Amino acid sequence: MADAKIIDGKAFAAGLRARVADGVAALKASHGVTPGLAVVLVGEDPASQVYVRSKERALVELGMNSFDHHEPADMAETDLLALIDRLNADPAVHGILVQLPLPRHIDTQKVLARIVPEKDADGFHVVNAGLLATGQPGAIVPCTPLGSLLLIRDTLGRDLKGKRALVLGRSNIVGKPMAQLLLQADCTVTMAHSRTVDLPEECRRADILVAAVGRPEMVRGDWIKPGATVIDVGINRVAAAEPGKTRLVGDVAFDEAVKVAGAITPVPGGVGPMTIACLMLNTLAAACRAAGAPVPE
Ligand code: NDP
Repeated sequence: MADAKIIDGKAFAAGLRARVADGVAALKASHGVTPGLAVVLVGEDPASQVYVRSKERALVELGMNSFDHHEPADMAETDLLALIDRLNADPAVHGILVQLPLPRHIDTQKVLARIVPEKDADGFHVVNAGLLATGQPGAIVPCTPLGSLLLIRDTLGRDLKGKRALVLGRSNIVGKPMAQLLLQADCTVTMAHSRTVDLPEECRRADILVAAVGRPEMVRGDWIKPGATVIDVGINRVAAAEPGKTRLVGDVAFDEAVKVAGAITPVPGGVGPMTIACLMLNTLAAACRAAGAPVPE
């Protein structure tokens, strides 16, 4: 069997970003509105700093406003809630993103719940989760599952009706919304997690396998149905062959899986770039809704 098609998330994300940039220019021209995202980072977690910097860069590149709030690690929860209140009330801010994880003394759910649902650019608010789960319009969908769905549709076409999909991982930010999106696309969806019995067998039934577990290369080649579409959400840093160096791997053993799957996302360069591109899309969509302009697909 020929090796799987490699799904180029980087190229797809570049195309999506270009479409978002066009949408931003159109909204400016038609309504005089520049979409703006407030990015809130509390503390100095190095990985979070890298993510936040790339989000802020992308906003500027696409012609949007980036309102950066980099706060000290000992920021009081009440001060963070007060900042969210100010951003909620600011008409120039169309989306608010609070970079996770927050320091331990802050109640994450309380903070996420404080963001008004219309500005919840990450789609983590319970109102948006509820709109998605009940299939209602206007839900802001979390960026990583949204990006994964766009890659699946680009690979298999828009019609996913009747396909067996397995989502490995049930987090609120990836696994659960991913399963909801696939269900809405008329797939027959199984959700697997750490208590699933005979995971390899469950995986082998899937036409679409989305792995979001955070376990380096856990999904082996012989867990995959021949010809399946494999979306590897995992980002895991492991030791490289060269002493002292590290490298990124996914939740799927790529070298094995590529020989069995029909199509597969690499790590890096698969789902990762889609996450930021979808954050840009969510921000543009929020600005369009606020301005009463048509929302881009
Ligand atoms: P979480 O840790 O929140 O969730 C992991 C899920 O995997 C849980 O549901 C857990 O099950 C399940 N799980 C863990 N171990 C096993 C196991 N041995 N067998 C079966 N299931 C298991 O992770 P996230 O959803 O936040 O992230 C998942 C991965 O995706 C991580 O690698 C993360 O870095 C990556 N990620 C990538 C993004 C991107 O932009 N590409 C964005 C967000 C995340 P249980 O519920 O039973 O504990």
